[in-house]
Amino acid sequence: MVSMVSRSKVLKFLSASALAVLLAGCGAPLSAHWQGFPPDGPERAAGKGAPQADASAAPGPDCSQVKCVALTFDDGPGPYTASLLDILDEHEAKATFFLIGKDIAKLPEVVREEAARGHEIGNHTWSHQDLAKISVAAAQRELRKTDAAIKEVTGASPTVIRPPYGTIREDLKKSLDLPVAMWSVDTFDWKTRDAKKTIKSAEKVVPGSIVLMHDIHPSTVKAMPTMLADLKARGFHFVTVSQLVGDPKPGTGYETGQQAAAGK
Ligand SMILES: [Zn+2]
Repeated sequence: MVSMVSRSKVLKFLSASALAVLLAGCGAPLSAHWQGFPPDGPERAAGKGAPQADASAAPGPDCSQVKCVALTFDDGPGPYTASLLDILDEHEAKATFFLIGKDIAKLPEVVREEAARGHEIGNHTWSHQDLAKISVAAAQRELRKTDAAIKEVTGASPTVIRPPYGTIREDLKKSLDLPVAMWSVDTFDWKTRDAKKTIKSAEKVVPGSIVLMHDIHPSTVKAMPTMLADLKARGFHFVTVSQLVGDPKPGTGYETGQQAAAGK
């Protein structure tokens, strides 16, 4: 896989655009900006089983019976994503990638591989805009352009949205035709850029956690083999956001999936 992406292309990509996102970071704290999660209740505990998102993938584990976690990677595709895909394969892990629309055409083969290997593809806006600070019409343009770019490359539309910085206007959120994935465990990988700290942050993972990471940082990819092994040793299965939630509803935000009580 790595060989498919030429070195010059990768370097060009890194210097051209990733730096902007890299410097901007993405992981704003889960603040009061975010409201309107569905309450914990039987609806969410039910965990509908078969995901709609990854029709081509093998059925995932039953997250109502076993411990599941959704690892999510924002701001890609980037120069390290291809090696991350190989690491995920080695650990039989599915993940969710929230893509920056304008970067998709720079590494289309990587995006195709993400989908082909059974990962979930999410929309992270065209140019990493703060959706709370632009008009609803502008936000919809950001999302629509990214939808189209993903469909052009993978043949399928994204199945979930993650707003940059974790902020979105309530009226926009309710108008969306996709679910909105937030997170419950922030690794702060974008801030520390330290593989050991990223690995340690996974100690906070409980059944149903959605974990925020960024595949544009080499320290994050470096952390993955150990993080995956540690979580696997604790009995976790690695699923996509849609698999974790079961039947995510459009216009609704999710910061976790299954109930913490689902697996001990
Ligand atoms: Zn981001």
